[in-house]
Amino acid sequence: MLPLVDTHCHLDAPEFGADAHQVWQRALAQGVQHCVIPAVHAANFDAVRALAHRSGNSYCLGIHPLYVPQASAQDLQQLQAQLQLHQHDPRLVAVGEIGLDFFVPALAQPAMREKQEHFYRAQLAMARACRLPVVLHVRRSADRLLKFLRATATPGQAWQGIAHAFNGSAVQAQAFVDLGFKLGFGGAFTFERALQLRHLATTLPLDVLVLETDAPDIPPHWLYTTAAERAAGVPPGRNEPGQLPRIAAELAQLRGIDLVALAHATTANATAALPKLAALLV
Ligand code: ZN
Repeated sequence: MLPLVDTHCHLDAPEFGADAHQVWQRALAQGVQHCVIPAVHAANFDAVRALAHRSGNSYCLGIHPLYVPQASAQDLQQLQAQLQLHQHDPRLVAVGEIGLDFFVPALAQPAMREKQEHFYRAQLAMARACRLPVVLHVRRSADRLLKFLRATATPGQAWQGIAHAFNGSAVQAQAFVDLGFKLGFGGAFTFERALQLRHLATTLPLDVLVLETDAPDIPPHWLYTTAAERAAGVPPGRNEPGQLPRIAAELAQLRGIDLVALAHATTANATAALPKLAALLV
């Protein structure tokens, strides 16, 4: 079996509902060894923790930028309390999913940019305080994310974590790597028109890449339905962690390397980014 790790899978998402158990069993049967389940808002902290324990996986706690508009100072306090309570839980591997999203127009308005940055900085500080890595949501926001990471850098304590669904420039990729991050690649690079992303996926050193599905989001090209197909009633394919082996095979083919070698390398990278995984993958 391939030692594949899905470093970013929203297995608790409503799209999976009561099906989450079967979805994960299918992924296991496909050869996925483990998945990391990031929380997105305070209301799902308990659910992701319970699901990670029940399914033998791991989880992150954090407030996702898309949930910042509805979030309050109380949610940050709740995160702080949960991190204090569970920081030694072997299955709590990072603070996440946190970050900045300047792609969604409503989130890019000045007041909302400010609120996002406040939540991001507060959560970075919490990650530092409990010595956990961070899992970052990066959308049109790489330079701003990097700026705050540098400002929060602590001498003698390098950042660890993952810039998930990475889709920036080669310079931004290098900047995250220089700060200690791995870069998450999934369904987006499987599209032939994603030229820059495919170039990055092919040319970045193997030791900076981790694999992810971001399921149920970011379906690979083979699950994608066009607007015309959807209008004709063709249901969109649902992305699942069980798609990871095929995503890995596509990446191995793009890079011209053996799938087994890619699986071993990306899993070692995932463990470097999220060190608590080491004890969970034995
Ligand atoms: Zn996500």
